[in-house]
Amino acid sequence: MIKFLDLHKINERYRDELDARIKEILDSGWYLQGKQNEEFSKHFARFCGAKYALGVANGLDALNLIIKAYGFGPGDEIIVPANTYIATILAISENGCTPILVEPDIRTYGINPELIEEKITPRTKAIMVVHLYGQAVPMQKIWALADKYNLKVIDDAAQAHGAQYRERRTGNLGDATGFSFYPGKNLGAMGDAGAVTTNDETLFNKIKAIANYGSDRKYHHIYKGVNSRLDELQAGILDVKLRYLEADNAKRREIARYYRDNIKNPLITLPQAYDEAAHVWHVFVVRVKERERFQQYLNDNGIQTVIHYPTAPHKQEAYREYAALSLPVTEQIHREVISLPISPVMTEEEIKTVVQVVNAYENKI
Ligand SMILES: *Cc1c(COP(=O)(O)O)cnc(C)c1O
Repeated sequence: MIKFLDLHKINERYRDELDARIKEILDSGWYLQGKQNEEFSKHFARFCGAKYALGVANGLDALNLIIKAYGFGPGDEIIVPANTYIATILAISENGCTPILVEPDIRTYGINPELIEEKITPRTKAIMVVHLYGQAVPMQKIWALADKYNLKVIDDAAQAHGAQYRERRTGNLGDATGFSFYPGKNLGAMGDAGAVTTNDETLFNKIKAIANYGSDRKYHHIYKGVNSRLDELQAGILDVKLRYLEADNAKRREIARYYRDNIKNPLITLPQAYDEAAHVWHVFVVRVKERERFQQYLNDNGIQTVIHYPTAPHKQEAYREYAALSLPVTEQIHREVISLPISPVMTEEEIKTVVQVVNAYENKI
């Protein structure tokens, strides 16, 4: 079986370094808010080209904390793409804000910048973009709208560590960015982990305090905060793996190039990259009409796939109040997408097999 993602194999490559780092942390007797967080946040901020980074408990919290720190709440609207992992939208509704769903551009799967302005009202506070599948959203139009209407740009880069728009990386594209280091992400921890990056010192200090019980120094609470800290263990693991992220992203890019050059099947719509060098291919998403049959066929031929994501957020039971919304592009995407394996530990033979099997998929007579 060609696994969709072999996390053991991914982490095994750094076994010695990880063992040593974990031992160092165990021996230190210091497990929260210490040297590992300091080092990792410094290195991750530098990687993104951002001034500040803060490790937090997970990606959902990262987005949540940004919205909370801006003080957005009931009555405020936040514009967000309708096709995303539900966490993006949950972060908005958890703060009592109203998510305003916007259709994506079917070529890039990112929010369609042409459809944003018509959704802006006096209640709009922010545009939340999602760099879905590893491709940064083209930001020019979004920055211009944010300037024109005085909105914040918040971005969800949970799938796009290292992705670029022009010369800038995610983490330095919006006013504040949320990252996830869920184990399967391009940079993955061994458990839950996330980060916020920003160039805004005031916002950074506020998020830092809110994430630690609203405390700017011990037992002094200036906000009604939460507990969302990054464990020293996870920070240490991420600090080791961060050094290899660019190499892993390059490997993903190479596999994507090979797939895009060699998969030739009229039943399969391949993903597009508006800038080859800037895409980090968190997942390689193709579209196909009879998805369940295609997935079964691949499975029968030894290829594991995953669907990102089978149901649009507005069609989920949790958002039943949105069920009547008509978002045809979003719905088509969620109906047709399926992700082929694209992990940095795939062998050449596995990559070739995927191409052969996909090319041999036929119309049923
Ligand atoms: C993974 C993911 C998140 C949530 O991250 P967690 O660390 O699981 O909380 C948010 N948004 C997107 C687009 C994601 O892929």
